[in-house]
Amino acid sequence: MNKILIANRGEIALRIMKSAKEMGISTVAVYSEADRNSPHVKYADEAVLLGPAPSSQSYLLGDKIIEFALKLKVDGIHPGYGFLSENGAFAQAVEDAGITFIGPSADSMKIMGDKLSAKEAAKAFNIPLVPGTEGAVENPAEAIDICKEIGFPVLIKASAGGGGKGMRIVEKEEELEEQIHSAISEAKSAFGNGAVFIEKYVASPRHIEVQVLCDTHGNMVHLFERECSVQRRHQKVIEEAPSAIISEQLRAEMGAKAVDVARACDYIGAGTVEFIMDEQHNFYFMEMNTRLQVEHPVTEMITGIDLVKEQIRVARGEKLSFSQDDLKIQGHSIEVRVYAENARENFMPDIGNLRVYKRPHGVGVRVDDGFVEGMDIPIYYDPMISKLVTYGKDREEARLRMIRAIEDYKIVGLSTTMEFAKFVMEHEAFISGNFDTHFVNKHFSPELLDKTTAGNEDIAAMIVAHLLAGNKENKAAMPSEGKAAKTSKWKANRV
Ligand code: ADP
Repeated sequence: MNKILIANRGEIALRIMKSAKEMGISTVAVYSEADRNSPHVKYADEAVLLGPAPSSQSYLLGDKIIEFALKLKVDGIHPGYGFLSENGAFAQAVEDAGITFIGPSADSMKIMGDKLSAKEAAKAFNIPLVPGTEGAVENPAEAIDICKEIGFPVLIKASAGGGGKGMRIVEKEEELEEQIHSAISEAKSAFGNGAVFIEKYVASPRHIEVQVLCDTHGNMVHLFERECSVQRRHQKVIEEAPSAIISEQLRAEMGAKAVDVARACDYIGAGTVEFIMDEQHNFYFMEMNTRLQVEHPVTEMITGIDLVKEQIRVARGEKLSFSQDDLKIQGHSIEVRVYAENARENFMPDIGNLRVYKRPHGVGVRVDDGFVEGMDIPIYYDPMISKLVTYGKDREEARLRMIRAIEDYKIVGLSTTMEFAKFVMEHEAFISGNFDTHFVNKHFSPELLDKTTAGNEDIAAMIVAHLLAGNKENKAAMPSEGKAAKTSKWKANRV
């Protein structure tokens, strides 16, 4: 493999290119008109314009991407996350064009791409599943008995749902029928597939996921867990590895089950098996993500393994160079997703211009980003600016380092999730490890942020400095500026 095309943008495109470069592989970037000046375009050896900003006219144009790849004699295509990364038809078309798809087979994606068929496959391997209906619910009357048996509240989920969408909680039996009907019609219009199923609503759940890696020679390993329980809108915002609450024995058990899930769909490459865990530490399979995850860096930090390089090696047909026994957890890593969002206003996207953008540095700090100072955060895509990752010899060092890194990170021009992340890092529930996916509801309110706005004096000083430098455009550059956001036009591509 001498040349790969990265069918993605921003931080993940850059991150993939860096590993490719270290392997002596040249890179091709694709970009939309909105990303013309993006670092990922400049970093690549070659770059091709796909089209206008909306992803339907650019990053989702699989055929056009393949056409460019053929013209530029590309050997492999890496899809990153989001966009075409879990699109089996795209993976197949890439292979049909004689190009290597750096990811699993279209068949594996198909099985795991649908929550119901994923459960079906997992069941055959005795993977614990959240109690609920066996297949799609068509008739509410059929579901009622099952719901009574498992107990309310229950969760109706769209089989084709994703990104925290297509889920609804039903508290009472009386609401079930109506909710099933609306869930079906919503799933039809949102995902083009009306299949919904019902699961027990796990009351105090933790989101624990296991990284797996499989080669084409039948070797399958897991790279331990990540905990992603700090979420807003059922979406991850802070992740860590390892989890603060998993014992060695449970880790081995979950790891083995995750490998079985990979086996259930003949998985090749890097993938993530997501589990939900209840208060008694019972864990249940939720779904498998058949791609690189946003939060993969925390696993890289604690294992010393570059997951992108491994993906490329597996795609080249090489054997994994390590076995399960070779893998050890060293230290602890935390990731904060720095979103252009306003935590004071229900985490609404707050896009704008990165008037001041100064990254933190120093031992144990990694920033994966795709923007530079002065750039606009486009409205067309996911509003993630960067991933701030810290590493420490233990959880406490990683946590204190995260607080330091957040204070050193200077972003002016829009609101970000960093203030919230600092609040989490300093919260007793996070420190003790006693938290679940309801962290935001249970512990957070915007007023509490005012107690932890350290670093603002520095930001204020920077604004003054900019104003004194005579940059008139910076006149109103307060950290929360821009919140009058263009949210109606927002096109999220959540992962
Ligand atoms: P998606 O594919 O949309 O990401 P998931 O099935 O991965 O959906 O679930 C996303 C999040 O929703 C989980 O991390 C968890 O917070 C919550 N969730 C999912 N299933 C349950 C459940 N049965 N009980 C309670 N919370 C759940």
